[in-house]
Amino acid sequence: MIVEKLLLHVLIVLVPVLIYSLMIENRKIGKSPYFLGFLYGASASLSMYFAYYDASLYWDLRYVPVVLAFFYGGPISGIITITALMITRTSMGGETLFLAYITAVLSCAVPYLMYNYFWKSPPKKRISLSIIIGSWPAFVQLIILLIYLYFNKGFVELNQVLLLYITVFGMIQIITVVLTAILNEAVIERNLMKDEIRRSEKQHTLGELAASIAHEVRNPLTVVKGFLQLMEGEDERHKNYYPLILSELGRAENIISDYLNFAKPEFKKIESFSLPLLVMELSILLNPYALKEGISLTHTIESDAVITTDRNQLKQALINILKNAVEATPKEGRVSIKLIEDGEHVKMIIRDTGKGMTKEQLSRVGSLFFSTKEKGTGLGTMVSARIIESMGGRVDYTSKLGKGTKVSVTLPLKMMFDEQPV
Ligand code: ADP
Ligand code: MG
Repeated sequence: MIVEKLLLHVLIVLVPVLIYSLMIENRKIGKSPYFLGFLYGASASLSMYFAYYDASLYWDLRYVPVVLAFFYGGPISGIITITALMITRTSMGGETLFLAYITAVLSCAVPYLMYNYFWKSPPKKRISLSIIIGSWPAFVQLIILLIYLYFNKGFVELNQVLLLYITVFGMIQIITVVLTAILNEAVIERNLMKDEIRRSEKQHTLGELAASIAHEVRNPLTVVKGFLQLMEGEDERHKNYYPLILSELGRAENIISDYLNFAKPEFKKIESFSLPLLVMELSILLNPYALKEGISLTHTIESDAVITTDRNQLKQALINILKNAVEATPKEGRVSIKLIEDGEHVKMIIRDTGKGMTKEQLSRVGSLFFSTKEKGTGLGTMVSARIIESMGGRVDYTSKLGKGTKVSVTLPLKMMFDEQPV
């Protein structure tokens, strides 16, 4: 029966996908269009070689590998596959050979033209595209068959058997395309995931290494700074240089501790404390800096939340955000901090009337080393986000270019440290 025969073809079509999944790890062969062309070409030729002959026609799934070769291997492997198919078909001969050529050209044109669009689509859409385009050759074959029958009435009658064959053939062809497309996508996704894991492992190791170096550099810096401070009082001749040297050393120290904090936020001392007090403290701490820049710093407190976490870390995170707000704001601008509470969360909203950010900047803020400042490090926002995320909270930025920026820091009222003995 046609169904049993076609099931053999399903297997023939699936084999390239299985071999591909084994070879994808191999960088040279796995992604080579020639290799894929060879696989799919062999599969298409085999499918045709074992074609089921009935009702004066050949029934097989030869065009499924062709479409898959065009889509998953690219134009080169598609052309190799169709060439292999045509060579096999020509060697088989027969009076309908010219029909096979016409079908081949028409069937390949669509996947060939769709290739770029196909790869621009997300995986789910790619599966549906394969289904639609995978049915295209079957449709072409059907149309050509009908035209041929119309002009050569004596050749074969369009009877019930033929109709049944066409339906079964069409259905199996579509099912096969769905199956192979899903398998192909699964193989691709698994491979991407493996790459990602490898990459993040590498990054992790590099991060650890850099953190240990940063740690080693910090100690001598502290010693040098201490001695310089001692010398500052005695060395009259270079007196003017000391403040500059010390401030630059301080900057280096800050960068290193920022980096260490980023690599591994350490919560040393977990305590319960009042957030309104922390906000007031920050306001007092940063007010002189804001005044110096000609900016007014205000705060509004609408919550009396008490949370349990590392107070110094949270303070550091908020200072980074507030400093950015002040730095972005021109003279006579405003920076405000608002503390509000909603059921399970407490929110600190930091607004500024500064220069704001473009969409592109907004999407990159918080990623490592992104800075638009001449002496910026691009660590501040990253460190803040890391600290707050480790506390189970989140930081959200919204910004309008030229208008200002709003940073919302959301923290859960019940911290994960609450359960632990302090
Ligand atoms: P740095 O301050 O050293 O540049 P940050 O990580 O603190 O590094 O900030 C990264 C970048 O994010 C800044 O250079 C700036 O472009 C942008 N940014 C952060 N906060 C604001 C803000 N409130 N207004 C405008 N831009 C901001
Ligand atoms: Mg900053």
